[in-house]
Amino acid sequence: NSVFDHVVRAPEDPILGVTVAYNKDPSPVKLNLGVGAYRTEEGKPLVLNVVRRAEQMLVNDRSRVKEYLPIVGLSDFNKLSAKLILGADSPAIQENRVTTVQCLSGTGSLRVGAEFLARHYHQHTIYIPQPTWGNHPKVFGLAGLSVKTYRYYDPATRGLNFQGLLEDLGSAPSGAIVLLHACAHNPTGVDPTPHQWEQIRQLMRSKALLPFFDSAYQGFASGNLDTDAQSVRMFAKDGGECLVAQSYAKNMGLYGERVGALSIVCRTADVASRVESQLKLVIRPMYSNPPIHGASIVATILKDRSLFQEWTIELKAMADRIISMRQQLFDALRSRGTPGDWSHIIKQIGMFTFTGLNSKQVVFMTKEYHIYMTSDGRISMAGLSSRTVPHLADAIHAAVT
Ligand code: PMP
Repeated sequence: NSVFDHVVRAPEDPILGVTVAYNKDPSPVKLNLGVGAYRTEEGKPLVLNVVRRAEQMLVNDRSRVKEYLPIVGLSDFNKLSAKLILGADSPAIQENRVTTVQCLSGTGSLRVGAEFLARHYHQHTIYIPQPTWGNHPKVFGLAGLSVKTYRYYDPATRGLNFQGLLEDLGSAPSGAIVLLHACAHNPTGVDPTPHQWEQIRQLMRSKALLPFFDSAYQGFASGNLDTDAQSVRMFAKDGGECLVAQSYAKNMGLYGERVGALSIVCRTADVASRVESQLKLVIRPMYSNPPIHGASIVATILKDRSLFQEWTIELKAMADRIISMRQQLFDALRSRGTPGDWSHIIKQIGMFTFTGLNSKQVVFMTKEYHIYMTSDGRISMAGLSSRTVPHLADAIHAAVT
């Protein structure tokens, strides 16, 4: 008899469980469009050339040791990460009003930020978009925040429900925290326009709502790092406070290295330094200090002009391939005469297309075509290639006719 006999089996994670099911399928035509990980035209995971080069430099440097990093992580990495998201000319950085701590990729950065807010911020309610990345409610809920949603996506237009968003944020209690996807909203691929962002900013500032940005796709959406940071910079520029969680999983392809950063933009340098002292108290009992390898890769690339340049080129190539997959899938459906308006495939932004397929159609496509995706009909465009587009188009066509 085990002392754990009463433990019931938990369900698989709704996103990572798709890969578990995919791995069990022996079919040669199977296609995994579940998890958001970039694949090459050949369907292989990609390690960026610039990452290989940086790693080689790190290996060749015999002075490097494996000592613990400080609780807040690698200092160069933190400074350069803040600059990357807020902009090199950010007044908040120049005025030392930003504290940045290295965390375990985007998820860890969100969690550390949420734990800090639960302990030190007067409002414990966080509004997250409906829908959002499936891990958001769990991360914030377990950190001790109370999770509510604001309207975001309109299934009828397959676009932004801007009116609903403004109404819901407008009736949120003063001071509430609001989770915003910096760009390439997951799972919908629908982002506000710059003009809409400005309206959101004005409304949020007028009600003292606290912005918490999740930036998991900087550079991956448009192919340009600055363009994809515009929303965050708009909020940081007005002198108000905000939090930003950054991930290098997608834009540097460092998924398994778990490299990310949490920045908190504060009113004054003094506040920022006190906030940082408390972030250390959050981190120390969770994992003591972050891992050194991935952050060293990022810092090596960000601080060297030519490596940085090479990175932007490779990043743009990934973004462009995804954008071309959108066009190819759209064209393939049109040439099949698939009923319905599929223009959202080319309008949506970032790694995912929110197809509008329902869970029954998803089950059908998995069963009959061995195509794996989350049950909300989200497909990872990064998992597609010219070779696999026709198979997916056949499956969608069959599912809707
Ligand atoms: N936020 C969003 C919106 C995401 O899509 C992801 C990755 N799927 C993350 C955060 C975090 O990813 P990671 O912890 O791997 O950086």
